[in-house]
Amino acid sequence: MHELSVTESILEICTRNARQSGASRVTTINLTIGRLSSIVDDSVQFYWDIISEGTLCAGALLVFKRLPAKMRCNDCGTEYRFDSDLIPCPSCQSMNACILGGDEFQVESIEIETNEDIP
Ligand SMILES: [Zn+2]
Repeated sequence: MHELSVTESILEICTRNARQSGASRVTTINLTIGRLSSIVDDSVQFYWDIISEGTLCAGALLVFKRLPAKMRCNDCGTEYRFDSDLIPCPSCQSMNACILGGDEFQVESIEIETNEDIP
């Protein structure tokens, strides 16, 4: 059920921003998700379709962008990124690394339509 609360906060952020911008409709929402986040795109989309109904965001397209995770080697201090599976340190091959980032989840930008767009 983690995705439901995440989806609710996306809706809240987007609705607030859309109102402030005088939007008549939100068309696209660009989201960034860290590679290590446990968020499942399909679940977010599923909840989104339900809770966005009747709001400015109804029918908006959700675009998910996965960010690479960031690691730092505990043995030699090298910082590196990885895209899918955990990889050893590229400098010393150590697997003794800590995670610096990669579980973030945020609304990067939204695209809106305003009434002024309609001729
Ligand atoms: Zn290393």
